[in-house]
Amino acid sequence: MTKLQAVNGFKDILPEQIHLWQRLEACATEVCRRFGMREIRTPILEKTELFVRSIGEATDVVEKEMYTFPDKGITMRPEATASIMRAFIEHGMHVQQPVQRLYTMGAMFRHERPQKGRLRQFHQFDAEIIGPVEPQVDAELIALGQMLFDELGLDVSLELNSLGCPVCRPPFRQKLIERLEKVQDQLCSDCRRRLHTNPLRVLDCKKPECRALVADAPSMQESLCPDCDRHFTAVRATLDSLGLRYNLNRFMVRGLDYYTRTTFEFITNQLGAQAAVGGGGRYDGLIEELGGPAVSGIGFAMGMERIVLLMEQQEQAEVAAAGRMDVYLAALGPEALAHCTVLAQLLRKRGLRVAIDYSDRSLKAQMKIAGRVQARYTLILGAQEWEQKAAILRDMETQEQKPFSLIGNTEEQCEGLVEILHDSNSM
Ligand code: AMP
Repeated sequence: MTKLQAVNGFKDILPEQIHLWQRLEACATEVCRRFGMREIRTPILEKTELFVRSIGEATDVVEKEMYTFPDKGITMRPEATASIMRAFIEHGMHVQQPVQRLYTMGAMFRHERPQKGRLRQFHQFDAEIIGPVEPQVDAELIALGQMLFDELGLDVSLELNSLGCPVCRPPFRQKLIERLEKVQDQLCSDCRRRLHTNPLRVLDCKKPECRALVADAPSMQESLCPDCDRHFTAVRATLDSLGLRYNLNRFMVRGLDYYTRTTFEFITNQLGAQAAVGGGGRYDGLIEELGGPAVSGIGFAMGMERIVLLMEQQEQAEVAAAGRMDVYLAALGPEALAHCTVLAQLLRKRGLRVAIDYSDRSLKAQMKIAGRVQARYTLILGAQEWEQKAAILRDMETQEQKPFSLIGNTEEQCEGLVEILHDSNSM
């Protein structure tokens, strides 16, 4: 009998990985607490129309990635913002409290081609601040996202753009279409199709031929109306004042239609093609578009699988580092060995991880051992060095060798080595 397997793109999270998920969930919850965010949980199924009206008909998500039950008119949520907005409107949440700060975590569904970091069922941590229009709030939400990565000790970079508003985006869109029509034949087939339905998406196509063609395309950041320009300037100034670094990226266009003004993405260079670990932006017209009050909002969604992959890599690096020795003492001959035996003990008392071999092997064999224990440094002390009172200290990363003086007593030599190892940050 053939063994049954999980559906392609749907993955188990096994007990071996669960500690990473739990740490991420706890960290996201704690960071949200600091920002006064409250948790909300919405259903997995929503009316298809919700996603069509919010995400946009001409987006990849709605066009080809949704898990829809057509006869029932329902869809498994491909993202969380639309559902949260639906709940916000349905429960009249703005009446209870004019500013709503909400977060959620849960499974989303998109029929994409599965690969590392890209699944058909994946999880997002999603945060939304509904109500305020002030640019400081944009920076505050970005700061929340950055704090999560900082707390997890993950290195990500922040890309920032503004997509304008219904005043300045349509003329920009037109200008862009006119420019792209001139090179239409050279665009990839996806972009040719998008050219008139969703031309902004052409700007962030990853295909090299399209990238080259849009290199000198008009920039939304330079086409903002005075209000959007002021807003964007204030967002940047607030990020600067908070010490948050970002790259202005005029090619970064989010995949969902509802974004206005500030948009951002957190990216990593450690996951290959799936570089985006999270992203979001402002959606000032969305709630009204969905039949709710005219209130603004800003939110982001982080891809939890991708964050867990980064945490996994970090954990592996930590395990590898924990198994590394600070120094290997390669002694040749009985006198050098006797000396190194004492030196090893002193260094270990100072907290250093020291490896030594007593079986009188050749230097070549000992260098092999030094490699195996991943020593940061090797101290080579042969008969000649012993005579000249100068050992050789080899940096195993750079292969650089320097003399290390053996003048003075063993305690002093130990002190000298500790200093060098401290300086190289190997401890
Ligand atoms: P989006 O809702 O498309 O803005 O996506 C927000 C984040 O969710 C992305 O930056 C990814 O980290 C993550 N994400 C989106 N689609 C997938 C997917 N198919 N598999 C895994 N993670 C995803």
